[in-house]
Amino acid sequence: MSNQPSVTRGTLVIDVDACKGCELCIDACPPRVLEMTTHELNSRGYRYPVLFDGCTGCRACSQICPDFVFQVYKYETPMVREPSEE
Ligand code: SF4
Ligand code: SF4
Repeated sequence: MSNQPSVTRGTLVIDVDACKGCELCIDACPPRVLEMTTHELNSRGYRYPVLFDGCTGCRACSQICPDFVFQVYKYETPMVREPSEE
């Protein structure tokens, strides 16, 4: 990670068990804050995305996901995390 504070402007509710592991959301996320699990699988046997700091609330993930896995919420006040907290 860089020494810059990370700014998070939104968050997601991820319906993990609705995911089919297609990975479309990973490349669709402009700040690249979604990553697929490596070992954990959902109840249907698929890897699924997890969210890291830095979401902008842009909704690109929810727009591209064929299975309506994401609900996006934008914060009224951005959350800033200093590097020393990581
Ligand atoms: S786009 Fe939707 S179905 Fe595909 S991996 Fe992402 S969350 Fe899962
Ligand atoms: S809302 Fe935008 S920034 Fe946040 S995870 Fe989805 S695509 Fe990425």
